[in-house]
Amino acid sequence: MGSIRLLPDILASQVAAGEVVERPASVVKELVENSIDAGARRITVEFQKGGVRLIRVTDDGGGMDRSDALLCLERHATSKIRESADLAAITTMGFRGEALPSIASVSRFRLSTRRHGEVPDEAGTLIEVEGGVVRNVSDSGDAPGTRIEVSDLFFNVPARRKFLRGEQTEASALLAQVEILAVSHPEIAFTCVRDGREVFRLAATDDLAVRLRDLHGGEFLSRMLPVPPIEHEGVGVSGWIAAPGEGRSDRSRQMTFVNGRIVRSPVLSMPLREACEGVLPKGLHPPAVLFFTIHPSAVDCNVHPAKREVRFRDPGLLREASLRAARSAWGTGGGGVVAPDDSEVPEFGSGFDPLFPPIVAGRHGTGTISLGYALQGELPASRIRETPEGDEDGISGIDPSGGDSDSSGASFTYLGRLSGRYLLFQQEEALLILEIRAARERILFERSLARIEGGEATESQSLLIPETIEASPAEVAWIEAHREILLMAGLAVEPFGSGILKVDAVPAAASALSVTEIVVRLVDELRTLGEAPSLENSGREALASSVSRLAAAAGRFPAGEESARMLLGELLSCDLPYATPLGRPTL
Ligand code: ADP
Ligand code: MG
Repeated sequence: MGSIRLLPDILASQVAAGEVVERPASVVKELVENSIDAGARRITVEFQKGGVRLIRVTDDGGGMDRSDALLCLERHATSKIRESADLAAITTMGFRGEALPSIASVSRFRLSTRRHGEVPDEAGTLIEVEGGVVRNVSDSGDAPGTRIEVSDLFFNVPARRKFLRGEQTEASALLAQVEILAVSHPEIAFTCVRDGREVFRLAATDDLAVRLRDLHGGEFLSRMLPVPPIEHEGVGVSGWIAAPGEGRSDRSRQMTFVNGRIVRSPVLSMPLREACEGVLPKGLHPPAVLFFTIHPSAVDCNVHPAKREVRFRDPGLLREASLRAARSAWGTGGGGVVAPDDSEVPEFGSGFDPLFPPIVAGRHGTGTISLGYALQGELPASRIRETPEGDEDGISGIDPSGGDSDSSGASFTYLGRLSGRYLLFQQEEALLILEIRAARERILFERSLARIEGGEATESQSLLIPETIEASPAEVAWIEAHREILLMAGLAVEPFGSGILKVDAVPAAASALSVTEIVVRLVDELRTLGEAPSLENSGREALASSVSRLAAAAGRFPAGEESARMLLGELLSCDLPYATPLGRPTL
C-alpha cells in the first residue's frame, strides 16, 4: 500500500504556516498587505504582549461578502489571480491565497467584514476560527471594511511558540514591520497601538517626506537628500538617501521597495555601498528609502513563501538604477564624492592610506617588520622585538615597548603630528607611527571593560538639563528593552512619550558628540551585535568596544608634545596595545 496520503487541510495549513507565519511581525505583514490590496485608506494595527497575545488589524477597505469571507479561509483561495498568466505580472501585495488559512490554523482567529455600499442592508459577517476549525459564523454589526483579530499565536503548536523571542524583541520586530508598511504607502493613514497605548498615528499624505518625518522625526529627514525621480531603460527610482558620509551600521534604515513591496537584495543595496566608497568607513551603510518601479513581468515575486525575496529578469538594470539614484542625489554624476574628514578612518584590511601604510621599517628591506601584518593576531610584545633573519648589521625592527622596562614611551623622540591623524615618534633608526583614533579606542576599551567587569558602569556625565531626542517606534522599543545595558555603557535614556527619548546622562568620554549622535551610534552598534546584547562575558567586551569606538571618534585630540607622549604612554601600558578590539592597528 502506498504511504503517501493527502494531508488534512488543517495540517497542510499548519505546515504552510511554518513558512508564512514565523512570528507576530509576519502575521502583521500579511494582514496589513491584505488591507492595502483591499484599497484601505486607513489601517489600524493594535497588539498586545509583543503580538503573541493579540494582533488586531482594522481597515476601511472593500470588505467581503459572506461567501467570500468563508472562501478566503480555504487554502489557495485568492481573489487576486484567476489564471496562470496573471502570475507573470503581479500587481497586488498578496497572490498565494495562503496567509489567512495559515494564520487561522495556528491561532484563535476572528474575521469581521462588511462590504462597502452596494447593498445597504447587507449585514456584515463574523467568523470565528480556533486552530483552523471554524467555530462560529454570524452577522456582525461592524462598519464597512475588515477587522481581523489573531489571538494566542501558536497556542496549538507549542514547538513553534518556543521559537518566539521575548516580548520586547517581538514587539520591536512587529513595529519595524509596521514602519516598513507605513513608509511603503504614505497615502494610507496608519495608527499603531501597543498594549493600549498609541505608538503613532500617521496622517495620509502624498508626500513621502512627510511620512518619513512623521515616523522618524525632522532630524532624520534633515540629514537626507531627495533622489529626483529617474527613469532608465524601464526602471524608475525615486526616494531619499542620506547625505554623503552619513552611515549607520545597521541596515534597518535602508528600505528598498520594488513596485511597493519591500525587497532586501544585494542587487539594490550593494550599489549604494559602492557609491559611497571612500566616504563611508567599511561596515556602514547609507540610510535610504528608495522606490523602484519596473514592469511587473520583469520581476518574479513568487520565489519565497513570505515573498521576502524576488527574482529580477535583468538584475543589471536595477543595479544601475540604484547606483544612479545615489549619484544623482549626491550630485556627483560619475563618482568623485566629497572627501572624508579625518575622523573617517578606514577599517583594518580595507586598504590603508597609501601614503602612510601602518608599516614600520628598519633600514634594510630585510629588516622590515610589518606591524600591521604581524599584529593581526595580537602577538605579545616579545615576538615583535625579534630581529628578522638576514639582518646582518644588527639593526632591529622597532621595539614598541622601547626596551625591556620602558612602557612609558620615554625612549621615543616625538617628531610631530601628521594630517591630524597620526603621531610620529623616533627611536634610534626606527620610525613609529601611532594612529590617534585607534590608540584612543584601545585605551578607552581597556578602561571601560575593567569597569564593566567590576560591575561598574562606564564613566558617564549627567546632563544639566535632560535632552529629548526623536527616535522611531522600533528604536524606542529596543531601547526600552535594553536600558540596563545602555546604563552600563554610561548612557541613561528612557522613552518619553511616543517617538521621543529622554537622555539624562551620556558616556563621559563621548560627551563631545551631540546627544543624538551618541544615542544613534551606540544603539546602532549594539543592535547589529545581534538580537540581544547581554552582560555575559562576550557581551561585556562588545559593550566596551562599542563605547570606546564611539568615544574615540569624539572630540579633537589636543596638539602638542605633552598630550602626544601621554597618549603613547597610556597606550603602551595597555594589556594589548597594538590593535583596537576589532583588530585595526594602533601602531
Ligand atoms: P492573498 O492575499 O494571497 O490573496 P490571503 O490568504 O492573504 O491570500 O487572502 C485571501 C483573500 O481574502 C484575498 O485574496 C482577498 O480576496 C480576501 N481578503 C483578505 N483580507 C482582506 C481584507 N482585509 N479586505 C478585503 N478582502 C480581504
Ligand atoms: Mg494576502
